[in-house]
Amino acid sequence: MTTGKINVSVENIFPLIKKFLYSDHEIFLRELVSNATDATLKLKHLTSIGEAKVEYGNPIIEVKIDKEGKKLHIIDQGIGMTADEVEKYINQVAFSGAEEFLEKYKDSAKDSGIIGHFGLGFYSAFMVAEKVEIITKSFKDEPAAHWTCDGSPEFTLVAHDKTERGTEIILHIAEDSLDFLEEFKIRELLTKYNKFMPVPIKFGTKKEALPKPEDAPEDYKTEYIDVDNIINNPNPAWTKQPVDLTDEDYKNFYRELYPMQFEEPLFNIHLNVDYPFNLTGILYFPKMSGDLQLQKDKIQLYQNQVFVTDNVEGIVPEFLGMLKGVIDSPDIPLNVSRSYLQADGNVKKISNYITRKVADKLKSLFNENREDFEQKWNDIKIVLEYGMLSEPKFYEKAGDFVLYPTVDDKYFTLAELKEAITANQTDKNGKLVVLYASNKDAQHSYIEIAKEKGYEVLLLDSPIVSHLIQKLEADNENLTFTRVDSDHIDKLIQKEETQISKLSEEEQGNLKTVLEEIVPKTTYSVQLEPMDSNASPFIITQPEFMRRMKEMSQTGGGGMFGMGNFPEMYNLVVNTNSELATTILNSEKSAQESLVKQALDLAKISQGLLKGEELTAFVKRSFELIK
Ligand code: ADP
Repeated sequence: MTTGKINVSVENIFPLIKKFLYSDHEIFLRELVSNATDATLKLKHLTSIGEAKVEYGNPIIEVKIDKEGKKLHIIDQGIGMTADEVEKYINQVAFSGAEEFLEKYKDSAKDSGIIGHFGLGFYSAFMVAEKVEIITKSFKDEPAAHWTCDGSPEFTLVAHDKTERGTEIILHIAEDSLDFLEEFKIRELLTKYNKFMPVPIKFGTKKEALPKPEDAPEDYKTEYIDVDNIINNPNPAWTKQPVDLTDEDYKNFYRELYPMQFEEPLFNIHLNVDYPFNLTGILYFPKMSGDLQLQKDKIQLYQNQVFVTDNVEGIVPEFLGMLKGVIDSPDIPLNVSRSYLQADGNVKKISNYITRKVADKLKSLFNENREDFEQKWNDIKIVLEYGMLSEPKFYEKAGDFVLYPTVDDKYFTLAELKEAITANQTDKNGKLVVLYASNKDAQHSYIEIAKEKGYEVLLLDSPIVSHLIQKLEADNENLTFTRVDSDHIDKLIQKEETQISKLSEEEQGNLKTVLEEIVPKTTYSVQLEPMDSNASPFIITQPEFMRRMKEMSQTGGGGMFGMGNFPEMYNLVVNTNSELATTILNSEKSAQESLVKQALDLAKISQGLLKGEELTAFVKRSFELIK
């Protein structure tokens, strides 16, 4: 028997470990199952190269609860350790690892970004156990060893009569951690961290029906036997080659990842690279649910099939945060803070790679089946538009597949759009005018006017569209976007024929005076326009610039235009060729007032601006008129 003192300068390392990782005690199980997996895979390797002359077989890992004895067992059939190796790897290597970790991070405990991502290894067992035993038998022809340590730096190491190869770790669960003896708790942890680990993990047994014998009697009762309950899938889809997977396989894997998710994903992107960094994974474009805040199924980060976190901030570009799926990379440093992560060269490369793969996939989907892509557009546009704004590398590629739908469900790329409007839609400076609506119902009358003139009207209804438009204009000098209700259509788009006003200069002056006396100056600026006599007499418009700045300040363009609240300012465009204009001009003062008010209210209604008290008064007044 050997007893000894673990050579460590931090005398009471266990209380420190416990305190430090307070919030993440649960990772101990991940660490121990990872060690068991490593030990199994090492044996696989050694047998495959002929270094270990033993049968590899079909090893599994078992996790077992002994509730009465207050013990948790983690048993593997891996490489095992000799007594010397226990001395070396457990007492020296593992311990110095733990010590080093604490030395390095005890001052930065506040930087909680790292907690839980750190493999403290074997010693994390002491976060939940007051005593830990290791019973291990090496694949080498040497006796088994039994190591015991109660959390003080003292340990004992004796021989043991275990004959099967492998290691059993026994945790004597501490009084304050007894919930780790609950079956549901351990099941939850195994499912969270070990669901896709490469060696089968047994946790308990389950009943399985025996096949019905051919000569079964009429009253045959199905017989059940107990079989190992394997909780993981050792060969998850992302570890396979794309050519070996069908669409159905990808969908099944999605369901495996998110059992509570009933919507099917729109499409997937298989990531697979081994130089200059190692990364595999599958990303899914989900159907966006209305409430973006409520997306709790997130991309999961794994390292060699061990779950690490579902906080992939900094690793996956922000605009892809709405995607789902898995990425697995041993090359992402996890023992560091988030800010360090962002500065890490490898991580930046990974993020760029993901962006590029996503763009390539979108492009090929677009090229292969445009119709299908158009149908999915509504569900993916937010991600893509956000990507164009936030990732220059994505923006560069977006021209190939980003779509601009019209109110009539035609879909243009930017190049196609330019081509379609070149002949017909230019302003007085010769720029191409892209007309758009943000809401088909609210801007219905304006859309109709534009369509009557044969113009294309886009439907751009994402919340960040004003930012995107701003960017597109900056990068396409000959392009100007303007919402259909931002001015009278004939002012927006240059026409050969100019309308002549039926009213004389003097009459126009009088009309303007009348209007300005009645219409509230603080909100409306009155403009007289000669238009078709059958066009609306009163139209309310809001200049594109004003409205866009306002929208941008509301959706986070604040940095640039941090002006707080914008006043509500509109133009009231009055058609001087309308009959109403003449009638107003030729009426008594009191009649003038009610005509203008009624006409203004009608214009407001068609802009969706008449509400509350004003609306009530309008309805009442209108009934009076038709009495
Ligand atoms: P790490 O796994 O990061 O090396 P650990 O503290 O988890 O650090 O483990 C230290 C060492 O102890 C391992 O590298 C391995 O050599 C040995 N070891 C731990 N668990 C097992 C096991 N179940 N079977 C065989 N060896 C093990």
